[in-house]
Amino acid sequence: MSQRFNQPLSGNEMPRFSGPGTMMRLPSQPTAEGLDACFVGIGFDIGTSNRTGTRFGPRQIRQESSMVRPYNMWTRVSPFDSLQVADIGDVAINTFNLLKSIDIIEAAYDEIMAHDVAPFTLGGDHTIVLPILRALAKKHGPLGVVHVDAHADVNDTMFDEKIAHGTPFRRLVEERLVDPKRVVQIGLRTTGYSAEDFDWPRDQGFRVVQAEECWYKSLAPLMVEVREQMGEGAVYISFDIDGLDPAYAPGTGTCEPGGLTSHQGIEIVRGCLGLNVIGGDLVEVSPPYDPSGNTAILAANLLFEMLCTLPGVAPRNA
Ligand code: MN
Ligand code: MN
Repeated sequence: MSQRFNQPLSGNEMPRFSGPGTMMRLPSQPTAEGLDACFVGIGFDIGTSNRTGTRFGPRQIRQESSMVRPYNMWTRVSPFDSLQVADIGDVAINTFNLLKSIDIIEAAYDEIMAHDVAPFTLGGDHTIVLPILRALAKKHGPLGVVHVDAHADVNDTMFDEKIAHGTPFRRLVEERLVDPKRVVQIGLRTTGYSAEDFDWPRDQGFRVVQAEECWYKSLAPLMVEVREQMGEGAVYISFDIDGLDPAYAPGTGTCEPGGLTSHQGIEIVRGCLGLNVIGGDLVEVSPPYDPSGNTAILAANLLFEMLCTLPGVAPRNA
């Protein structure tokens, strides 16, 4: 194991229930300087439409991430052999002001992007993907997005508000922060107000894969097609935990039955290996509805799997 790069604190050096409370028990630092990838938290739930609590998401994901070990036993990727990674803490939002918080988040990610780093965000509700991609698209241009969710998040408004957790993907299109032909939404399902809810993204050029198209099967073949769709350009992974079935991820605010399995969620992220992944988020974990911690454990593992898709990760066989 290389000593050139930060390593998560091993469970053989300090018990997993003790020690630092950072993501994967990595070192923490105040900025992204010198890093190839960073974990950053946004405790934010003032954009939610139903059950709240995602303000506690980053803290709970970090806590449960103490079980995540540094080597990927299936893909044989060992990200800490070749990437410098740290936890750079949380964005200090203003929890009394949503619009100000959106600007605060964008400014925080502008600063992060000054360091040529891939940020992986612990959410927070899905509203935060808008200011994150406002910052990332300044550097990378319109992005491809692999979006896992029960919902399309393309409402024009919610209670006449343009910015909430059900609207970001419409704003991303309007602001040309994404390349619609290189957006895939996977796991959408159950009930809506009209067919328009999923046809609007299709009309923009998104590929929409409803949950029913995923039932009973491996998503590895789908991800072959997604890799063709994404091509060589920059790709962002936006993973709303409610894309998974509430049986696997009950700790979230807007549950929909009939969702993806945890296996399918992992297949989707692993299927991004080989793409030009430039960052990602794991949003909508609400610890008050996650008494077992299983939702946060899954979230922590999915964030590790995202890290394992970065260009520059090296497989290690020993
Ligand atoms: Mn969402
Ligand atoms: Mn959702």
